[in-house]
Amino acid sequence: MNINHHLDDATLMSYSAGSLSQGMALVVASHLAFCSACRERAEMNDAVGGVLLESLDAETIEDDMLAAILAQIDEPETSIIEPQQQTPRACDPEIPMPLNEYVSGPLDELQWKRIVPGVAYYDMPWQGRGVSRLLRIAPGKSMLTHTHNGNELTLVLRGSFSDEVGRFCRGDIADLDDQIEHQPLVDSDEDCICLIATDAPLRFTTLFGKLVQPMTGF
Ligand SMILES: [Zn+2]
Repeated sequence: MNINHHLDDATLMSYSAGSLSQGMALVVASHLAFCSACRERAEMNDAVGGVLLESLDAETIEDDMLAAILAQIDEPETSIIEPQQQTPRACDPEIPMPLNEYVSGPLDELQWKRIVPGVAYYDMPWQGRGVSRLLRIAPGKSMLTHTHNGNELTLVLRGSFSDEVGRFCRGDIADLDDQIEHQPLVDSDEDCICLIATDAPLRFTTLFGKLVQPMTGF
């Protein structure tokens, strides 16, 4: 898989620290299942965190402490995601292992709920401040223009989309903060299916978006 868009450092750090919402953590874990480059970075964060915990009796943290910690780390042995060690369940190969826990079958057989023609969603089975769902958008359709009150993570599982940031294909993750206003447009021949999570509701910037927001729950 050729992955061009990755997680940013702050998101990976929050994931290692266990401070992400369940929905955001699921998107991160699903990207890590696809992406060896981000998996290595996550393992390094875990190793740094482990050494930091062991050093907590030190009263002050010296300026060169991080360098010393990094020097202690040869081969990080811990890993957050070990898909191979989990019991494999028969599933659609399109679905990354962490997500497999929460969907009942192949993507095409899920109970999709339509928002508007060409746009449907499938919610993850938990409630939170933000959104955690699969989103399915038909070719040539776009999501409504919006900005964020917080962060938004989008992992492509099928098809592709483009927005002001770039083009995103299967395995790519869009890791966006509240500085971005964007309108993703599906540019593949097939539906684009993404796993998305936000840590706060989206803020639509068009009148139509504001009108449908109460209905869609975004
Ligand atoms: Zn990555």
